[in-house]
Amino acid sequence: MIEIDGAQGEGGGQMLRTSLSLAASLKEPVHIKNIRQGRNKPGLMRQHLASVNAMAEICNAQVIGAFVGSQTIEFIPGDTKAGNYHFAISSAGSSTLVFQTVLPALLLTGKPSRLVLEGGTHNPMAPSFDFIQHSFLPVLEQMGIESNARIERYGFYPAGGGKWTITIKPPENFHKIMLENQGTLLRSQAKCIASRIPGHVLIREKKQLLKRLDWPEDSITLATVESPGPGNIISLQVHYPDITEVVESIGARGISAEHVADKAADELCRYQSIGAPVGCHLADQLLLPLSLGAGGSFVTGPLSGHTLTNIAVIRQFIDVEINVVEIEPGRQWRVIVNV
Ligand code: ATP
Repeated sequence: MIEIDGAQGEGGGQMLRTSLSLAASLKEPVHIKNIRQGRNKPGLMRQHLASVNAMAEICNAQVIGAFVGSQTIEFIPGDTKAGNYHFAISSAGSSTLVFQTVLPALLLTGKPSRLVLEGGTHNPMAPSFDFIQHSFLPVLEQMGIESNARIERYGFYPAGGGKWTITIKPPENFHKIMLENQGTLLRSQAKCIASRIPGHVLIREKKQLLKRLDWPEDSITLATVESPGPGNIISLQVHYPDITEVVESIGARGISAEHVADKAADELCRYQSIGAPVGCHLADQLLLPLSLGAGGSFVTGPLSGHTLTNIAVIRQFIDVEINVVEIEPGRQWRVIVNV
């Protein structure tokens, strides 16, 4: 049984999810200890438990230790079945992270699947639905994976209650991908979205974005959406020939609309000034699909703790060569995955 120490590296929930994805994909039993030791409240939280249960359902696993607060689990996967699944997280836990956990094993079945996901869709510290739809899935498309995602209801922290569906169709053979250059900016757009908060917030966010970014006024749209609780997010999308980066900033009580806009603009400036195609979040999320697919390479900025930890966990499961080369000192790195 593969032993994973959850205290290594970044020490968060991602190590658990990556281990579950790999265990199910490779049909390898795994024992994970010290789950989320790097966090204030270690152990499985409800959203992590949702990933464990979803993964177990898909690959018919036997699991020991699947309860809130558990710091150790044993996960013995069976056969993964493609098909129709419905996963609901009762809290505002991130439904997109549950999706990313089950995706690799479903792709390796070679058959299409349809998922309905409920919970948080636009959470802090997790990929939003928009990020999945516009940044993550288009790269998977380059690997030959067809998908179609549609949001029905937004779910913001803390009320949650969002809902979205996705169909995925794996290719017969995965394609190798290479993301080398950011290239020429083709299009930029911003969405300021709110549910159950005063209308002036969106107007002030747009005003501040216009002050910060040299973008035409009609590239920034405002939308009020239906959601069980209040919420606000600014989503900036920049489209390049091979990549779309989605940078987000989430509004919260006590934070001014101007500050929310500034945070999004600052992050976008950082991405554009580094000049690498793959942003820091996409970098850690691509490692698993590349390692289980046909490999490839991408250029990114400074590697995050999530990326380094993911590389370490993947190496514990698969005999894959992952090389990281600094190509522009302090600025750009090339990550090469040879399968
Ligand atoms: P924790 O143990 O920290 O409570 P968690 O289970 O929520 O953890 P992490 O281990 O921190 O998760 O992993 C979060 C994942 O969400 C990472 O893959 C990271 O790249 C991704 N992520 C975080 N913020 C964003 C963002 N703004 N856009 C896209 N992806 C993001």
